[in-house]
Amino acid sequence: MSSRQITIIANWKANLPPSEEVALAKEIAAGLEGALQASGSPSRLRVLLAPSALGLVPVASLLRREYPQAGIEVAAQDSSLSSAGAFTGEIPADHLVGIAPAVIVGHSERRRDHGESGEVVGGKLARVVAAGLAPVLCLGDNLPEAGIATRVAFVQAQCAAAFDAAERAGSSAAQLFAAGLVIAYEPVWAIGTGTPASVEIAEAIAVGLRSTLHREDLPVLYGGSVDAATAATWFGAPTKRTGLDGLLVGGASLHADRFVAIVRAALAAAEPA
Ligand code: PEP
Repeated sequence: MSSRQITIIANWKANLPPSEEVALAKEIAAGLEGALQASGSPSRLRVLLAPSALGLVPVASLLRREYPQAGIEVAAQDSSLSSAGAFTGEIPADHLVGIAPAVIVGHSERRRDHGESGEVVGGKLARVVAAGLAPVLCLGDNLPEAGIATRVAFVQAQCAAAFDAAERAGSSAAQLFAAGLVIAYEPVWAIGTGTPASVEIAEAIAVGLRSTLHREDLPVLYGGSVDAATAATWFGAPTKRTGLDGLLVGGASLHADRFVAIVRAALAAAEPA
């Protein structure tokens, strides 16, 4: 039987007001409750919903209050580089404690729209870890035509930049791993385009990252135009360490039926061989 834990994260971005996020969370939790309980989740399958900042508290409360058995957790889509203090509009990682056990850091939309450099991403990683939360570090190339070796080298360098900056900000690689770091490979050209990367590319990235970080058990997720029809294809044989450990889902996660189908497909793929 596989000992691998599959992680599926729904990233709702800024698509919905909090009331609709609560309604969506309710529909997803109702659709998954039985399957997750039967699977022995969270040991085999971990499901996290990442609502907007405004939806974090109401969605987390709903899940705890009405679906405690499902074990679905909440993740933040981002947190601040700043600590708590006089920083208008910021969301310090410390303030997410007790609400979201995980925080997405370095999503390509943050890098693109807010100019987040490797230095900023690393600084945020350090803040998340210092708060005792688990970072989900997004990495991804914008090289749709590149060969696999070029792509792997790009993502390894992007990862190194974030790790080096995190170290300068006070969190060593060992501390990132101990905090439960998960990496999500999200090629920019595959996000929201309807054309996912190939499994071959995603697996090569996972192997390349595990090798450069000397971390055979590093969990690597794939994200970019994942849908129910292809969800199972992302998982190799259960014991194969070249396989991926889960999915980060954007557009499809805004539809309860599509997201539930993705989670069910992942669960089936992680069934004992
Ligand atoms: C994302 O932006 O993280 C993402 C994976 O989006 P989509 O699934 O819509 O490509």
